[in-house]
Formats: sequence, structure tokens, C-alpha cells
Amino acid sequence: MRPKKISKSTHKIDISLVDPDALKAVHKLRQAGYTAYLVGGCIRDLLLNQKPKDFDISTSAKPEEVKKLFRNCILIGRRFRLAHLRYGRKILEVSTFRKGDNETDSLILEDNVWGTPEEDVIRRDFTINGIFFDSELETLIDYVGGYEDIKKKYLHTIGEPFIRFRQDPVRMIRLLKFEARFGLEVDPKTRQALLECRSEIVKSSQARILEELFKMLESGSSKNFVTLMTKYGLLENLLPEISHFLEHKEGHEIYNFLDEIDMIIKEPHTPKPTRAILISALLFPILDEKLKLHVEKIPGKPPHLGLIQKEVSLFIDQIFRPFFHMPKRIKARMVTLLTSQYRLTPLEDRLVKRIRIPQTPEFYLGLEFFKLRARLEPALLTTYEKWNDAYTNYLKKKPPSTTSPRRFRRRRK
Ligand code: ATP
Ligand code: MG
Repeated sequence: MRPKKISKSTHKIDISLVDPDALKAVHKLRQAGYTAYLVGGCIRDLLLNQKPKDFDISTSAKPEEVKKLFRNCILIGRRFRLAHLRYGRKILEVSTFRKGDNETDSLILEDNVWGTPEEDVIRRDFTINGIFFDSELETLIDYVGGYEDIKKKYLHTIGEPFIRFRQDPVRMIRLLKFEARFGLEVDPKTRQALLECRSEIVKSSQARILEELFKMLESGSSKNFVTLMTKYGLLENLLPEISHFLEHKEGHEIYNFLDEIDMIIKEPHTPKPTRAILISALLFPILDEKLKLHVEKIPGKPPHLGLIQKEVSLFIDQIFRPFFHMPKRIKARMVTLLTSQYRLTPLEDRLVKRIRIPQTPEFYLGLEFFKLRARLEPALLTTYEKWNDAYTNYLKKKPPSTTSPRRFRRRRK
């Protein structure tokens, strides 16, 4: 099939917005005799006037050939073999054109059969993600009608949606991610397929879904995303307790957190919350309700912090266990952070009589989460300020250690 070629005068992509290292990498591959294009999310984002998060390259060079060409290259993945070019913290993904099978609806376990550029876009998920950009000629190469769909803000799968979702159920989450992020209109057949295939979501890799969930919490559109995940019943399959709370109980409490998080992410100079803080926002209102019930049952005997810590740990397992395995490091941070909330404002007699900063470096996370709560509930602001002052004084007096909060803050996960 001949692709549609869209010239610069029509698409108007400003090449200066493309990462110079990505342009150089494409150039190097071409000089070595390979075909190479920019592809996928970065082209979609540029056409939608958004800043791309990462730049992906698609090429005729095999992973080993890419490795020979670039000193900063490592090869990763078994299910999907891929070259990573590393530039400090930044990574460019270089994938070899591969051929998929869009006719069979069984789960894809491996995707490493090399193919032509056309075959490579046809195995991609949505038309909006299937456009190549020839960065030397500054021309778009479109086999799937993605350019028009982007202009119409229309979202549909490449090929038969029922087959494409059964092959890889993560695509259903990706559909909602693009709907949430860009407010696209979803093709009715694709929507129908999502409704019919939603329970298959549990067949996919929990790690890939967790990654998409974290990416969405960091995207600035988390509220829209969680709303759609709930509406289409995907959340019910993955995180039933959260879904139930959102639909039947004080769901607005979680949505208020997400709203605030989206706002913080969009503020240019505010540091972005860490993943442990983001995911805790989904849990805190449910946890708080449970603990308060506990106190109501046995008045006058509020659980001490050690007991709360145990409850929090069990609670996190109970929420995620049906499907996810929360990485140990994030779970440990969530436990500290959520438990700290009851040090900052005890369950009974919510005024703190004595401010004492605990020795754990993770206390900083608890305070950060409390700050988020205070943004939602201004009555907490004075308490936050008291604790924050005490913590600042504590840091001034404390000898420097290897796990200082600054170090801590810089880590994203
Ligand atoms: P984001 O902006 O969140 O990174 P993205 O579309 O760029 O979104 P990536 O995970 O970076 O997502 O994937 C890069 C490209 O690979 C996509 O644009 C799409 O063309 C293709 N792709 C990703 N996941 C799938 C999938 N599950 N099935 C088919 N193609 C996929
Ligand atoms: Mg991407």
C-alpha cells in the first residue's frame, strides 16, 4: 500500500521541538544505510501541540546492528527486543521494524519478527500512534490515516478492535489514557469492543498496567483517567475496592485528591509528587474511613501508631493483591507515609500535644502528603506549618547523613 505523504507546509511540525539527539541518531542510522524514522507518541504529541515526553525511533537496523553503531546503546527486553540509547538520564528507544499478526486474537507473548515499515505501523495500537516522521525531509508518512484522525480528534484501533484488545489487553488502558489526556472522540466499534473485552484486562502483565497507572497519575489528567477507568469497568477488574468506593461511597474525596494532583503537576515550578505520594492519594480516603470506624467501635482506645502501621500494610495488600504486586520499595514508602498521617493528626483528639520528629528519613514523605491534604482542607494548614517548622529545625540540628531528604526528593519512584 502506498502511504500518504504529508509535507511540512501542511503538517507544520516545528523541527526545533524535536530532541536534537533523536535527530542525530536518525541521521547516523541513515548514514549507515538503514531506514529510520521518528514514530509513535512523539509525532502524535507534536501534532496535538503538546510537548513529547520521549522520542522513539523505528528502523530497519536489527538490535545488534544498532548496538554496533552506538556506544551508548544497551539492548533490553525479551518479549519485545529493543535498543536503548542513553544520554545521561534521557533514553531514546530504537525499535526494529517488526511484523505483527492482526488477524489472530490470542494473547501476544512475543513480538520479535522483523518486517517492513508498513508492517511495523499496522501492528501498532491506534491510528494516532501509527505515523512515521522522516526527519530529514520533514515529511509525515502515514499508512493508517492517523494524520486525519488526529486532526478530527478521533481515536480508533488499527485493525479490528476486538482482536487487537484480545491480543494485548493493555491497549484498553491505553485507549482510556489517550481519551483522558487529549479528549478524543472514540470510534463506536472500538468503544463496544472495550466494553466486551474489559474483563480480559486481568490477563495482561500487572507490571505493564501498573506502569501505565503511574504514568497517568503523573500526567496531569489523572482525574479524567480514573473517571473513565471506573465508567468502563476496568478499575473494577483491577482494583475492586477503590472502584467500589469511587462509585458508591465518598468517591469525591479521591477525585478531589486527583484534581489537586493534576493541578500540582501542571504548575511549572512546583516539584512533582513522587509515585508513593500519588498512589497513596487513591488509598487515603478509604483507609481513613476504615480507621475512623475502628475508633468509633472502641471509643477512648485509639490504636497506637505501631498498630496503625500494621493495619496500613495489610490494607495496601488487600487493595492491590487481587491483581498487582506493588514493588517493595514503593509499598514501604506508602506504609510510612500513610502511617505518618496519624502522627500528624491523631485519630482521636486530633490536636497534637507534643511535636516530635521521628528518626526515619521517610518522614519527609508523610509531611509532603500532609501538605497535599492541607491544600484540600485548609483547616489543616496551621498544623502543617507547625510540623514543617519543627522538621526544618530538626534538619538544621541533625548531622548530614547519606539519606538526606534532598537525596530522597530527587528519586522519582
Ligand atoms: P506516552 O506519551 O504515554 O509515552 P506512547 O503512545 O508514546 O504514550 P509508549 O509506551 O511510549 O506510548 O509507546 C510508543 C509507541 O509504541 C506507541 O505510540 C505505539 O505506536 C506503540 N505501542 C505502545 N504500546 C503498544 C501496544 N500495547 N500495542 C501496540 N503498539 C503499541
Ligand atoms: Mg512514548
